[in-house]
Amino acid sequence: MDLKNLTIKNFHKGLLDKEFSAHEITQEFFDYIKKQDKKIDAYLSLNEKMALEQAEQADLRVAKNENVGMLAGAPLAIKDNILIEGLPATAASKILENYIASYDATVIKKLKSAGAVFLGKTNMDEFAMGSSTESSAFKITKNPHDLKRVPGGSSGGSAAAVAADMAVAALGSDTGGSIRQPAAFCGVVGLKPTYGAVSRFGVMAMASSLDQIGPFAKTVEDAAILFKEISGQDKLDSTSADVKYGEEILNPKLENIKKLTVGIPEEYFIDGMDKEVSKAVESAIKDIESLGIKTKKISLPHTKYALSDYYIIMPAEVSANLERFDGIRYGSREKAKDLIELYKKNRSAGFGDEAKRRIILGAFVLSSGYYDAYYAKAQKVRSLIKQDFENAFKQVDVILTPVTPTSAFKIGEKTKDPLSMYLSDIFTIPANLAGVPAISIPISGKRELPVAFQLMGKPWKEVDILGIGQYYQKINPNA
Ligand code: GLN
Repeated sequence: MDLKNLTIKNFHKGLLDKEFSAHEITQEFFDYIKKQDKKIDAYLSLNEKMALEQAEQADLRVAKNENVGMLAGAPLAIKDNILIEGLPATAASKILENYIASYDATVIKKLKSAGAVFLGKTNMDEFAMGSSTESSAFKITKNPHDLKRVPGGSSGGSAAAVAADMAVAALGSDTGGSIRQPAAFCGVVGLKPTYGAVSRFGVMAMASSLDQIGPFAKTVEDAAILFKEISGQDKLDSTSADVKYGEEILNPKLENIKKLTVGIPEEYFIDGMDKEVSKAVESAIKDIESLGIKTKKISLPHTKYALSDYYIIMPAEVSANLERFDGIRYGSREKAKDLIELYKKNRSAGFGDEAKRRIILGAFVLSSGYYDAYYAKAQKVRSLIKQDFENAFKQVDVILTPVTPTSAFKIGEKTKDPLSMYLSDIFTIPANLAGVPAISIPISGKRELPVAFQLMGKPWKEVDILGIGQYYQKINPNA
């Protein structure tokens, strides 16, 4: 079987038609990963034993003619900040180097009952902080399209694994763009669901009011399949909502898609953006218009504050969430004479520079005397950004923008200058602040490096962005 063209959809068909077994394909993936990943470094750990058993279980169910779902036997890659019981979960941090998860994240429980296979855990920026996977404590993942370039981040390992045919699809997490930006850099599809659509139980918290788990896939249809499976209310995450997604996200109707209006916000077409990116996005807009969808210029006036707003709210939450890593319950323990020294030593040795930078920044913006000036103000700005979206969604159903101002940058290019690294998330952060769903879709056409466009939808209206995305790919089958 050609792993290159393997999607969840055609894997499922091949499995039911007995063209291959899940066990065979899983084994083939491991053989391939062992060769290919020497170059790419997408995986932090492989899970061969459990995966082959999971595949066998799926094969048994097929042999017994049991009713199996789309994901039965499907080989997936999982970002290393999502817990799978019994497997390492390091979040690419030294502080969790030897940590083994003691329970399953809710998304993992759901995927297990759907019969999916977990090939391994993927590399990322430490605790999901970064845009290039270079802040991993263990290795730098390379972009499969050009090994000298970054895959994006923080879910760079998951994006690269799918792009390099080392998994059929994958899970990542997105706090400010960590699914969509690496998807764009690697030429795969990445979806950040509406805040609350997917349970966050069992994903290591970065900034809890922004984090969402979502899929990477080769097609929008596959992303919809995976999203449908992992979504739903969970009593273990009080921010998850009771919203059910129907069949239409898998089989959108063109007549409904044609009724949608797509807004193009002027603030997302900025000076300093790559010519190649703006040209490609223009071509995506034309293709979408050719489906009979109306487009309209709109404005999201507070966009220019989004990045600075995020870099106050996110570190504030990071500093609180990462307090638990003190070497007592989790992490390695250094020798110390008292408790304070123990914390200092463990945290100094365990966290990398970017994590430390954000913990310090977060503690500062929350400290008394600065709280009102920074944190409280940032919350007000967040409301304004949210209102921008609410106003825009009175006029249009979906918003189309670029995902990133440039295509994948070179390894090492931005590590010395955190601010230029932060700028690569300028178009993805607003969707997290507003809580709206957003998808990154590769733009068709021959280019040296992948370029993508983003569709943002109304809250709970994944159906609209997944629908337009699926029709875009129908008219651009090679995208
Ligand atoms: N790149 C962004 C950051 O560094 C987003 C990270 C994420 O979404 N986890 O914070």
